[in-house]
Amino acid sequence: MCEQVNRMTDEEVMAVLQQTAAIRHGHFQLTSGRHSDTYIQCARVLEHPRLSYRLAQETVARLPQDLAVDLVASPAVGGILFGFVVAAALDKPLIFSERVDGRMALRRSFAVPPGARVLIAEDVVTTGGSVKELEELISDAGGVVAGVVSLIDRGGQPVFSAPFYPLIQLEVPSWSPEMCELCQNGVEIHAPGSRNLAK
Ligand SMILES: [Zn+2]
Repeated sequence: MCEQVNRMTDEEVMAVLQQTAAIRHGHFQLTSGRHSDTYIQCARVLEHPRLSYRLAQETVARLPQDLAVDLVASPAVGGILFGFVVAAALDKPLIFSERVDGRMALRRSFAVPPGARVLIAEDVVTTGGSVKELEELISDAGGVVAGVVSLIDRGGQPVFSAPFYPLIQLEVPSWSPEMCELCQNGVEIHAPGSRNLAK
């Protein structure tokens, strides 16, 4: 954490997320079928390693000074790339969990040393269900979850108990198609989550 970091403002963070189309504004049909004026796809910024690393450095720079971390852990798949750059920024190892028969598990000989202080990294958190499962996995393994970081907090009520340090908070409102003013105004709709409709 002693590395010199060029700090970023919230506006600069948002600009990176928008320029890479990780956050899009317009008229979207979500996979739920509801409509929204905002669409989040964190994978788009994580296509760019250096930009991702800058965001990870900023995320780490905003953590409490006294937050001790021995290990970073991410839930597959979405969290792994962000976790990797966070781990690089902290100069700590990264492990990740993945689902085995529907349950979150540590495979690949990954281990949590007893008493290790673990920072969980996820790309986007709505309620953090996967984060909570990983939190329990780490506790059961004898580790201590020091905190949770994410690129984006979508403003749901987090179900995990560790302190949460999202880089930005962005509520994504959605509504039923019948209630959609964008539809009523004839604004072209995109369905980026669907393979069947044009992007
Ligand atoms: Zn609409």
